[in-house]
Amino acid sequence: MTSDAPTTTWPPNDPATWRYLPESSTPVDHDRVAALLAVEWERFIASTPASAEHNIRASKSLPLGVTSSFQHWDPYPISIASANGAWLTDVDGRKLLDLSMGFGAMMVGHLNPVVVEKVKYALETTGTLFVTPSPTATEVAERFQKRFSLDRLRFTNSGTESTMYAVRTARAFTHRRGIVKMEGGYHGGYDALSVSVKPDVAGAGPEGFPSAVVPFEVEAGLVHVVPYNDLERLATILDAHADEIAAVVMEPVIENLGIVLPDEGYLSGVRALCDHHGVLLIFDEVKTGLTAGYAGATSRLGVTPDLVTLAKSIGGGLPLAAFGGREEVMAAVTDGRMPHFGTYNGNPLVMAAAAAVDEVCTEEALASAEAINEGALRALDKVIDQYELPAHTVGFGIKGAVTWSTTPVRNYRDYKRTDFLTAELSWLWGVNRGILTPPGLDEQWLVSLAHTAEDMAALVSDFTDLAAAIRA
Ligand code: PMP
Repeated sequence: MTSDAPTTTWPPNDPATWRYLPESSTPVDHDRVAALLAVEWERFIASTPASAEHNIRASKSLPLGVTSSFQHWDPYPISIASANGAWLTDVDGRKLLDLSMGFGAMMVGHLNPVVVEKVKYALETTGTLFVTPSPTATEVAERFQKRFSLDRLRFTNSGTESTMYAVRTARAFTHRRGIVKMEGGYHGGYDALSVSVKPDVAGAGPEGFPSAVVPFEVEAGLVHVVPYNDLERLATILDAHADEIAAVVMEPVIENLGIVLPDEGYLSGVRALCDHHGVLLIFDEVKTGLTAGYAGATSRLGVTPDLVTLAKSIGGGLPLAAFGGREEVMAAVTDGRMPHFGTYNGNPLVMAAAAAVDEVCTEEALASAEAINEGALRALDKVIDQYELPAHTVGFGIKGAVTWSTTPVRNYRDYKRTDFLTAELSWLWGVNRGILTPPGLDEQWLVSLAHTAEDMAALVSDFTDLAAAIRA
């Protein structure tokens, strides 16, 4: 059966993003995919005995044997002993091409020499923590202020902290407590933002007007949930409730459901609705950030929020995050309406790493990584076309993903309709052949500054073999 992909019936994606939908596709045989998957799991277990053993040991001290539940998969995850550049070495001594790169936090590469040099200097000469003002932090604040066009910013230690403080700042500024978030969106562990993070759709209300799904252990407060790429629903919510809503919180490009791209004009539509209702707009750029380009997704997509949260890519692998934005809004921090504290905020060690990141993330360096990513996306498109796979590529900046769907994924419900079985096979196929993309099927690869075109060619070649196996 051949189906025409209805490319013309969908709103175009924002022109600063990448999506290629093949013209035609043939369904995959799921019995075959399941059989291949069973073989791959056997292969995984046979080739990772030390990881299996390590998981048994680790589970005796750490729940699931991991330090963050994202790291876990069944039957056990691969344990890594060391990393350098774009490569990982696992406890079985195998070399793996790292296409996860710490969910984007290792954007400049593992053990980037400039990061190592500056952090080493801090460790041996500057000191690691003063809990006082210091030129080491002010210098990085000035660099990021300029790079990301932020009037004022504060440093934190994680994306979770940054999104929490951004929400609190918006509440203090507007004197309203509610927020609006996107269904399916992940923003870290803060209660208000833990609503409808990949909810079970059976209990999440109708697709067009989803209900807020609050996990039992969460005290969320007032949270409205809307589908991404749906201005109409957002307008309805704001029309009815704006007087109690402080902010709309969203990733400008959702990077926790594969990659979900904004329709052309969607983000400026959100901006206009927020302005109309006096509601703040918060862009969570924890995942986009420098991976979207020199000044983040905000600059690339041309829509300016009131507050931005940053983490991962800005820290060179050290625990650094930030939130900041308009002077008027950040005045809530200055005058104490929104107190912001943190013992480790802006410590000299992470500031040294951040200065290094700012130094190495030049326009040229990022453009060259993006060209490698685009080359890989184009090559994968050819494979998808050649094998008529029911899949398509999406990309943003130096990130990319193959989405197992013949139609665009424009929101959470679309994501839930993608082919998870084939996605799992595709991921495990890579793992077994030395290519590690993130676990969870909702992430994307990252072309770091340490990756080469040859590295990405390995991904393409691997994917070609997978396509041939699926169609054999
Ligand atoms: N926001 C987004 C968009 C994220 O992807 C994440 C983490 N993956 C967070 C916030 C939370 O960041 P952290 O893990 O540093 O707390």
